[in-house]
Amino acid sequence: MHTTIHNSLQFCHVRVRYRLTHVLNGSHWSKGVYSPPQNFSPSHTAVASARRFYSTAQEGGAAKNTTNDSFARVFPRVMKRVHNLLFLLFLSCFVAAESATQDTNSTLHVVALSTVLTEVAREVGGDRVQVIGLVQPGVDPHGFDPSAADVRKLEEADIAFASGLNLESYLDRVAIATAGKTNIVRIGEALPFIRMSADDDATPNAMHGHHHGGHANGKGEREPDPHWWHSIDNMIHATGLVRAEYTRQRPAWGEDFSRNAKLYQQRLTALKEWGASQMSTLPASSRHFVSSHDAFGYLAHDYGLAVHSISGLSTESEPDARRMTELVNLIRREHIRAIFAEESANSRLLQNLARETGVRIGGALYADGLGPADSDAATYGAMYRHNVRTIVESLRSPSDDTSK
Ligand SMILES: [Zn+2]
Repeated sequence: MHTTIHNSLQFCHVRVRYRLTHVLNGSHWSKGVYSPPQNFSPSHTAVASARRFYSTAQEGGAAKNTTNDSFARVFPRVMKRVHNLLFLLFLSCFVAAESATQDTNSTLHVVALSTVLTEVAREVGGDRVQVIGLVQPGVDPHGFDPSAADVRKLEEADIAFASGLNLESYLDRVAIATAGKTNIVRIGEALPFIRMSADDDATPNAMHGHHHGGHANGKGEREPDPHWWHSIDNMIHATGLVRAEYTRQRPAWGEDFSRNAKLYQQRLTALKEWGASQMSTLPASSRHFVSSHDAFGYLAHDYGLAVHSISGLSTESEPDARRMTELVNLIRREHIRAIFAEESANSRLLQNLARETGVRIGGALYADGLGPADSDAATYGAMYRHNVRTIVESLRSPSDDTSK
């Protein structure tokens, strides 16, 4: 008897697990534990009988009927139910043992949709995690469009980390293409974000969530700024979110993930202290910051820089003539020493602005992610140091050098 059950179990345990899930949860196994093959559908009678069994047991159907039924009629049904229950318990143990093995022993497969998140995912995951960086260094994430092969990689991954806040405008399309099967974690949406600065507003943005919503400028609500990684506090927080997602999926490796995350966060904290010491050499009068697109709001917020961008939050939006005139006037009025190009943005308008005002172009910043392996921005730390150094050296006037 047992041998028969065991053999049939081994042969069709996938089907049984699928049915069991319907019985116990009324839904599929959660992703990462088990998903039934796409073309598999259990027989209706099997599911119906399993559901019938569960609902009768739940509602105490046996007790309800005993008063009217004779012992002879009830006994076989009770025995059948006990038999079924034992059978289900036996299956549960079998399934639990198998899924536990799968949980603790299989490498997590991760896809990262930004170069910064690729680094965070690898640092926190260590050997336990295999990370595919879908967006390559130097590629503009605003214009990235996943190929069919990319979508397949997203579908197969246990986790897909995205910057969120609409940076990856294709995510809704991916969710539809993969029938919602991709576990997309939009990191930026769990962080305190800032809103894009208004065109005529030279003050650093108010933090979202603090309700400093006093800018009634008739332009409606400003878009959230998706370039959250330029604030190191956000990076520290994001590292914790990646650790939490890994630990949720592989609880047995939680300590490893915690240790890795802590080491990475310590490096980030040291970087933050270095950045603050560098920025402190800039006097208040030298803290106007003009760049191609509005990507440095978070960095500006951290260090009290007033940020002005030629185009908006995306590298793909184009400014109008009025905006260019405003910037020309601002550069002249505030005696701004330098404006900044970006590695992945169109620099034509920046060059026009420099020609018009005589301001110099202060060097290229990494706005939208890390640089290639052979650049000076191949890691987050290197990218951050490059940006801070470029900003400070370009904006500081020669007289500031001696004052600090
Ligand atoms: Zn950007």
